[in-house]
Amino acid sequence: MALSPYRSSLQGGTFRPSAMRLERPLSMGSSTKQSAAAAATVVTPPPRSKSSSSLSQTRRSASATRPSRDESGGRVRVAVRLRPRNADELIADADFGDYVELMPELKRLKLRKNNWDSETFQFDEVLTETASQKRVYEVVAKPVVESVLEGYNGTVMAYGQTGTGKTFTLGRLGEEDTADRGIMVRAMEDILADISSEQDAVTVSYLQLYMETVQDLLAPEKDNIPIVEDPKTGDVSLPGVTLYEVRDQRSFVELLQIGEANRFAANTKLNTESSRSHAILLVNVRKTVRPKQERELAALNENVTNLQLSKGHRIPTIRRSKLIIVDLAGSERVDKSGSEGHTLEEAKFINLSLTALGKCINALAENSPHVPIRDSKLTRLLRDSFGGTARTSLIVTIGPSPQHRGETTSTILFGQRAMRVENMMKLREEFDYKSLCRKLETDLDRLVAENERQNQAVLDAEEEMEQKIQEAQQSVTEAEKKLATTLEEMAAERFRFQKEHAETLHKLEQERALREKLEKELKDNAQNLHAQKEKQMQSEKAKHQKELEDFKQRHQQELIDLTKRLEVEHSQRDSLERKLVEVEHLVKQKGKIELGGQEQIMFLTNQCKELSRLKEKAEKELQEFRSKTTLATKKLKEENASLSKENKTLQHDLEESLKQKKALEHEVKNVKQQLFKLNFEADETRKSRDKEPTRTLIGSDSPLLNSHKPMNMRDSLNGQRASIAKLFEEVGLQKILSLLDSEDMGVRVHAVKVVANLAAEEANQEKIVEAGGMDSLLSLLQTSEDETIQRVAAGAIANLAMNETNQELIMAQGGIRLLARTANQAEDPQTLRMVAGAIANLCGNDKLQGRLREEGGIKALLGMVRSRHPDVLAQIARGLANFAKCESRGVTEGCRKERSLLIDDGALPWIISNANSESSPVRRHIELALCHLAQHEVNAKDLVAAGALWELLRISEECSREDIRNLAKRTLTASPTFQSELRKVHLGHG
Ligand code: ADP
Ligand code: MG
Repeated sequence: MALSPYRSSLQGGTFRPSAMRLERPLSMGSSTKQSAAAAATVVTPPPRSKSSSSLSQTRRSASATRPSRDESGGRVRVAVRLRPRNADELIADADFGDYVELMPELKRLKLRKNNWDSETFQFDEVLTETASQKRVYEVVAKPVVESVLEGYNGTVMAYGQTGTGKTFTLGRLGEEDTADRGIMVRAMEDILADISSEQDAVTVSYLQLYMETVQDLLAPEKDNIPIVEDPKTGDVSLPGVTLYEVRDQRSFVELLQIGEANRFAANTKLNTESSRSHAILLVNVRKTVRPKQERELAALNENVTNLQLSKGHRIPTIRRSKLIIVDLAGSERVDKSGSEGHTLEEAKFINLSLTALGKCINALAENSPHVPIRDSKLTRLLRDSFGGTARTSLIVTIGPSPQHRGETTSTILFGQRAMRVENMMKLREEFDYKSLCRKLETDLDRLVAENERQNQAVLDAEEEMEQKIQEAQQSVTEAEKKLATTLEEMAAERFRFQKEHAETLHKLEQERALREKLEKELKDNAQNLHAQKEKQMQSEKAKHQKELEDFKQRHQQELIDLTKRLEVEHSQRDSLERKLVEVEHLVKQKGKIELGGQEQIMFLTNQCKELSRLKEKAEKELQEFRSKTTLATKKLKEENASLSKENKTLQHDLEESLKQKKALEHEVKNVKQQLFKLNFEADETRKSRDKEPTRTLIGSDSPLLNSHKPMNMRDSLNGQRASIAKLFEEVGLQKILSLLDSEDMGVRVHAVKVVANLAAEEANQEKIVEAGGMDSLLSLLQTSEDETIQRVAAGAIANLAMNETNQELIMAQGGIRLLARTANQAEDPQTLRMVAGAIANLCGNDKLQGRLREEGGIKALLGMVRSRHPDVLAQIARGLANFAKCESRGVTEGCRKERSLLIDDGALPWIISNANSESSPVRRHIELALCHLAQHEVNAKDLVAAGALWELLRISEECSREDIRNLAKRTLTASPTFQSELRKVHLGHG
């Protein structure tokens, strides 16, 4: 069997049958007395780097029968699979960036918390939305199936939120399309191909576990099957469960269909959904070891096998192993009673098994001495699979929608913990002495009977031989007689032939004379024919000459007609010239009429003069009005005097307020101290986090692989956030915001950091805006020269700019001009990243497009490309994609007709030159932006001129996201401009 990529990449081929060692040598004496189960041997795959000397040491020192753990081979393997977007998500999530980013080459997965914060996780395998079912099987399940065929127990489980593809991955039958077949069907195919139909056996059971009750899906009336554990061996059995022997693939698929139908019926009866229950497929394999494998065993255990082989017999070895495939219930919590139609008690039960599984994994991951296996039926059934003696693969399925962030994150964390669980491998093998004895007795009986049969056969053969010799002699005499008669017949025949020959010669002679006569007649005929042809040709020539003559005459007649027509036309021209003279005369008369017009103009000028006189009169009236106004001003001054009196009383009030202010300042001082302390702690946490040594899990050098570190980081971050939240409650937002105006630079820096931290939490954003935090942050951006303040303030604004109401507020307060100013002045890439991120968020709001552009938002965004930092470029690209997306929506809704503002502002050259950028976030956003621009025919000419056509073609072929690929294809086909360009180069689509 070929070594699958999964195994070779993760284990470096350390776990292979040829590398197995027996921990305990077998001896004849013990093995004859021991029961079959007790004769089972324990095999531990040697760790990757151990030399042969340390191996022999292991063998010598391993007198204990306990299975030992292996550093890499025994760990639970965890792969993560991302489901492609479905039709609903393509529409609903189109505006969001990807929440999940996969890096399959590094086997990493990145979860984006917001635009600048993300967490990265390492897995054994990362399967993208385009991964085929075949690859998923080979990577996740094939190593487990191979190890089951080698005699170990194996488990494959799928964990994830409902709708993320667990059943798709495990249970697809692939009847319409064989490429769709899931893990269950493919595993059985491999098992059936490996075993021998005469000696080996495969049985299956199919169960459902719902509310802590096990039901037999192949005999649904058995709906409360107990789980029994052997107190000595710990083996789990299910008395009464149906065991079907599988002989071929067809019957297995039928069993799965029956099971699925019963599961559906049972769930309808219980009024629940299948996502609430676990489906468990148990496959038992009983396999006799083949001679090659036996020799390997012999090399490992010389004592036993030398003895056995020298006697010329071999001990048949039977391997019993079990494969469990579990389609787990949906990982989403069912803790809300009522809404789903069940009571709180039911909800508790529905969750029980999955919760217990989680607890066991936590306990195993932390190496806790107590693992609560007995807490649920699921964990009892799977007691071997985690931290047990089986090879286990877990496939964690997730969906792409940012709307399920919470569920996706907890699913990923579950997978991370499972990666820390180690298993022990145990070979399920026994020597079958009874069956050997039975086999030898049958062999002996068979040989004795065979011997008897062969003796009889020899006697029979001798008799037959003699009879055959007699028959041969008879046939020789008969043959001699036949020969004599044949010779006589041949002589008579020869005479007859000679006579016939003479006759034939005579006939030939007559035929030659006839042929000569015919040839002569043929020659005469040919001469006659030639004379006739000559005559015919001469008559045809005379006819052609006559026709030519006629044609010439006709032609001359036509010439005469044409000349006549020409003369008539000349006379017409003369009459036209005469008419022209008359027209000129008329023109002269018109000149006279114009003179009359000038007189009218004079009259109008007089009227104008009259008007200017009227104007002078109006001016006089105006002066009179002014003098009246002076009088009114005097009156106003008197009123002013009375107001100043009131002013004095107000001043008194002001003094009172000043006193209150002093008291407040005292309080503010206290708050400042608290703030300093807090920020100091936050800085310390950050420093210690940076200093922490990087430990890696499986030999990679990235700090992201450290499985403990994210926990620590998260803890300290959570701690920091918690204390900020506490401060928030104690001190009050208003006071924190007032510190943003503090004279003291240090205080201002700390205060803005605290506000930015608060703004990162969605729950605080509204409160901050209500308390006037947006104004403060914007004015800080305007007035402060300090780079740190600018960076943090811009970050806080960017966080606030994620919601629509705030976006409008930022716009109304002139925020875009401020951001543009910072974009032009700042040099620090992190500041630019925040500014670009904020503008990018604003770009995604349909209502703000026009103003955003008028106030220089797009120009500012494009200006920031001078910083070549990839994070800045990614935000710029995101902004352009958001903007283009809004425009294209406007076009679809019919409220936009003009050319794109992005093209007007000169964004196209940068877009084209980055369409194939090496940075994947930049590329992805730009590809999206291009597709949206190209959807509007009014942009097509500019796009073609800038060279976008080739990029769109490339996107339609190569883009990793299917939806974008399709969008590009659709756009190319729909646009007449693109189509005509493509036809020019013979590439027309559709
Ligand atoms: P679960 O068992 O986790 O609730 P399903 O396997 O029923 O989820 O999948 C939900 C839907 O998504 C089904 O329509 C399924 O066909 C589809 N789906 C899941 N994974 C994929 C995939 N990798 N490719 C295409 N469609 C998928
Ligand atoms: Mg399902």
